[in-house]
This record gives sequence, C-alpha cells and structure tokens, in this order.
Amino acid sequence: MTITTAHGTGTAFHEGLVHAYSANNYHPLPVVVARAEGAWVTDVEGRRFLDCLAGYSALNFGHGHPALVAAAHEQLDRVTLTSRAFGNDQLGPFCAELSALLGTQMVLPMNTGAEAVESGLKVARKWGYEVKGVPVNRARIVVAGGGFHGRTTTIVGFSTDPDARGGFGPFTPGFDIVAYGDTAALRAAITPDTVAVLIEPVQGEAGVVVPPAGYLAAVREICTADHVLFVADEVQSGLGRTGHLLASRGAGVEADVYLLGKALGGGIMPLSAVIASRDVLGVLQPGQHGSTFGGNPLACAVGRAVVRLMSDDGPGGMLAMARARGAVLAERLGALVGHGVDAVRCVGLWAGVDIDPRLGSGRDVSEALAERGVLVKDTHGSTIRFSPPLVITHAEIAMAVDALRQVLAELR
Ligand code: PLP
Repeated sequence: MTITTAHGTGTAFHEGLVHAYSANNYHPLPVVVARAEGAWVTDVEGRRFLDCLAGYSALNFGHGHPALVAAAHEQLDRVTLTSRAFGNDQLGPFCAELSALLGTQMVLPMNTGAEAVESGLKVARKWGYEVKGVPVNRARIVVAGGGFHGRTTTIVGFSTDPDARGGFGPFTPGFDIVAYGDTAALRAAITPDTVAVLIEPVQGEAGVVVPPAGYLAAVREICTADHVLFVADEVQSGLGRTGHLLASRGAGVEADVYLLGKALGGGIMPLSAVIASRDVLGVLQPGQHGSTFGGNPLACAVGRAVVRLMSDDGPGGMLAMARARGAVLAERLGALVGHGVDAVRCVGLWAGVDIDPRLGSGRDVSEALAERGVLVKDTHGSTIRFSPPLVITHAEIAMAVDALRQVLAELR
C-alpha cells in the first residue's frame, strides 16, 4: 500500500485536511500554529499572535519554558516509558516532591484531567464503602451545576451542558447536582450515603465564575460535619493560575482531595494527579486502578521540573508574577465595563469577560481579536476568557486589552 503524504502550506490547506480527516468535534479559530515561544505563537503564514488562552491553562509557564524543555530533552534520551509493570526512577521522586509541595501524603499519577476526575470519583466511592461504611453500591457524589470536569461518559452524565451530554446516555447513576455557590442546596443534598462533594473552586469553562465569599469554607464545614470528602477539581485553577498554588488555598480552604492536570505536565506531556492523604488514597490496592501511561518517566521528569518552578514563592516566582500581572489585567479589563463589556470576573491572571451581547457573540469578538494578533476563546455565548501564560509581560497585557478595546469600538 502506498501512503500519500499530504503536501501543502497555508491555513486553508491545513484546515482542509483537518476538515476532511479529523472528527469534527472542535470549531477552532482560523489560526494554524507552527511554532511558539513564551507567550507568543507563530502560524503557518508567519503571523505572530499573543496567546492569551495558554492551552486552557496547560501552558501556565509559557510555550517552551527552558527549564521544562531541558528536563524533557534529558529524559527523552534516557527512558520514556516503562508502564507500571516495572518501576522507573522518576515516579517516586515526582510523587514525593509533589506531595511535599502541596503538604499532602500521596499521589496517584494519571494523564489527562478527565482521568484525574474519574480516578478521584473511584477513590471517593471506595473510601465511602471501606472507611465511611456506606452500604455497597449506594455511594452518592454531589456536584455543582455549570461545572466542567471533562468528557468521559460518567463525567458528562453529571454535566448540565446539553451539548456535552446530549446523545451520550445512558449515564452512570449516583450523582446529585446542586446550584454552584448555594450552600443551603448543598447541605440539603447530603445524605448518609454521600461520599464526596466534587467542585471547581472557580468554575473555569463556565466563564471564570468565582463563588460567593464564604462558599468554599461552607463546603469544607459541611463535608467535615457529615464525613464527606471535599474533592477540589483544580485541573484548571491549580498551579498558579489564581496567584496561588491551589485556588482553594487562596480562599483559605483545605480540601481532602485535589485533582491536578493541565499545567502539571508543563504543556509538554499530559500529566494529571489525584492528591490526598494516606487514609483516602490508601484504599487502592494492586489491580484496582491503573493506566499504561500514568506515571511514565518522561511525564514525571517534566512534572518534577514543574514542581521546582512552583516551589519558588519569592518575588520572581510564578505565583508572584500571576498576582502582579493579574492585578494589571483586572484593572485594564475593569476599565472596559460600560464600554462594550457588561462584567469582568478576575481572579489571579484569569478573567471571564462578558461582552455586551448586542455587539456580537464571544466567537465574533475572538475572531476579531485574532485578526489583531491576540488569541482568546469564547466560552458560553458572549463570554470570552483570558488565561495568558503567567510569564506574559505588563506591556503584552496592555496590548491584549487595547486590542479588545479597539474591537469593541469597531463593533459598536
Ligand atoms: N477539570 C477541569 C476543571 C477542567 O477545566 C478540565 C478541562 O478543561 C478538565 C477537568 C478535563 O481535563 P482534560 O481535558 O485534560 O481531560
């Protein structure tokens, strides 16, 4: 058989191939990236764009961070995959260093964010049966409406987004959905069979929705009182995005289980993790859970370099950068409210911007911004999200917000 190699250049050529041969499950902006460095990407036409999405926070440290690339290169030449049938010399140090960074006891390494969530749900159910004493097959887990936790069949089964769940049933039972931010609803949903509450400390995909003050503390209190695990999905909010190691801790709250992904792999490897105490993660025994790629040495080597970056909590570290630059982003975006922007929600270097729907959709604004060299992505309806790499400069933030101001002025 002869395989014909596709030859061509240019945006239309690449979009044509994707349209013809890739499943049609995305509607990307018309930008085909060929190279990237720091906060900037260059497309196949040679145009440069400021990346204000950063792989939905997977690229918190920017494209090609030298320390992360060096760690990956070094590990590539040594060993990349062993499976968990054997040990490898990166897994133990990665788990120990990540546990030390977060002040917890155990790590279950997986690959994608959805896998971390699935694994967290399995662990919570097993904990419910073995530690809490819930009768077999009765475990329930409370989740929040408007949340986003990934795309597996179990996870979309408790999504409230019709696009995410429509056509994929039947779904896994055992989930109760309550309104995000509603403490009374949460309290009412807890039963003796409830084993966990799974929430995002800030709802990312929903448009950077920050819960009312005191909500996360109330979740903690309810979970403690009812012997229920507080599972914080920090896949998008964790590792610096909010100016804190963990968004929950930024709100002064400690969860029982943290789910990390995205930035944990430094934008180089898929790497996610369930992080918890021995009482919780200790319920897993050999053969009960696993993944061929989970804990592979290449991902763990990059993850260790990410942990080193995150350990610097000094003035030059990622957390300080996120806070300082987030303040600039919030101030500049805030000035647009009433000028084509209805509302801005900012936490750390993360912003949800509600565009006045009379001016156009979030998609219209994202396309117009791309034409001006700034990449963001719309989320629901007329909301766009800014989550630039934490290494973006003040001048680049000014450039991005100026571009938005010009786009809004043109649409008016
Ligand atoms: N959890 C949260 C909070 C997310 O934002 C996402 C992805 O956006 C996921 C889980 C799923 O991660 P992945 O796409 O790596 O499966």
